[in-house]
Parts: sequence; structure tokens; C-alpha cells
Amino acid sequence: MPGARSKRAKRRKKKPLSDEELRELSRKHFARDFPNPKRLGCPPKGELKRLAENPRNAKESVLGHISSCSPCYRGYSRFLQAKKKKTPI
Ligand SMILES: [Zn+2]
Repeated sequence: MPGARSKRAKRRKKKPLSDEELRELSRKHFARDFPNPKRLGCPPKGELKRLAENPRNAKESVLGHISSCSPCYRGYSRFLQAKKKKTPI
């Protein structure tokens, strides 16, 4: 085969949310506030909870949303705190 390529072990799929990315996200939020008094485009609380408890199964749109919506971010971090209390790492 002329075009034989070695199989790459690494497949670039959706990369899971790393702790670093989450930390980066919170840093942005501490540096800057994103008020959203009308709660435009806010996902239901259940989605925030899912993002906190199981980031790999959460919708990316929710993650994108909390990165620019302070009320949702706060809700999310509350779920995150609750999760940490339940399952200490
Ligand atoms: Zn929101």
C-alpha cells in the first residue's frame, strides 16, 4: 500500500472537560462578572446539576452558557460544592 499510514492511537474526539478548564472558567468568572438579570437562554437547573456531577455527559451548550452567565455559573458551582461534599476525592 503506498498510502499506508500508521494508526494513530490518539483520536481527537470531543475532549472531556478537564479540571484545568474548569479552573480557568472560574478564574474568568472571578475576574469578571457576567450579569444576566433576565436569565436569557438559561438552561434548566437539571442541566447545571448534570454538568457539575457528570461533565462528560453534559451538553456543551450548557458549559458555553455558564461561561458567560454569572447566575448560572453560581448555580453550577453550588452543585459542584454539593457533589464534592458527597464524594470526597
Ligand atoms: Zn444563565
